[in-house]
Amino acid sequence: MKNLKKNFGSLDLEFMNEYTDEKIYEIFLNHKGFGVKTVSCVLIFAMGRDAFPVDTHVHRILNRLGIVKTSSAEKTFEAVKEIIPEGKKYELHSNLIKFGRNICRAKNPLCSICFLYKVCEFPEKKFYRFKKINASDIKENNFIILENLS
Ligand code: SF4
Repeated sequence: MKNLKKNFGSLDLEFMNEYTDEKIYEIFLNHKGFGVKTVSCVLIFAMGRDAFPVDTHVHRILNRLGIVKTSSAEKTFEAVKEIIPEGKKYELHSNLIKFGRNICRAKNPLCSICFLYKVCEFPEKKFYRFKKINASDIKENNFIILENLS
C-alpha cells in the first residue's frame, strides 16, 4: 500500500478507470502482496469490471465438477479466464461462492441434494451421496446456481 501511494500519489483508483484490465493486473502484480485473486477483487468490486476472482471455493468446485483440472487457485484463474462469457463473471463468481458455502462445501459436501450430481466428476460424490444430512446442514438461503445469469 505504501508503495502504491508513493508511485501514484494516493490510494484513489479513479485514475485507473481508463486503463485496460491487463494493465491493471500488470501494475498491481508488480507490488508485493498482490495476487490475481486480490487484483480480480479490486477490478470486480471496486471498479465494476467484469473480472473473475478465484478463491478456494471457486477453485474447489470447478475442479470437482471437472471443468478444470488444476492444482492451485492461480492455475484455475488462468484456465477459465477466457471461457466465461463476457458480462457473466460477477454472477458466476458470486453464485459459486454461495454454492461452495452451502452445498459443495470443502468438508462434507451435500452431494445427496446437489442438483449438479449427475454431471459432477468428483469421485467421492458417491460416498457423500449416502451420508446422513442433518436439518442444520441445510441453510435457508438455498439458491439456484445460475439464478443471476440471463
Ligand atoms: S455432487 Fe457433491 S462434489 Fe459434486 S458439485 Fe455437487 S456437492 Fe459438489
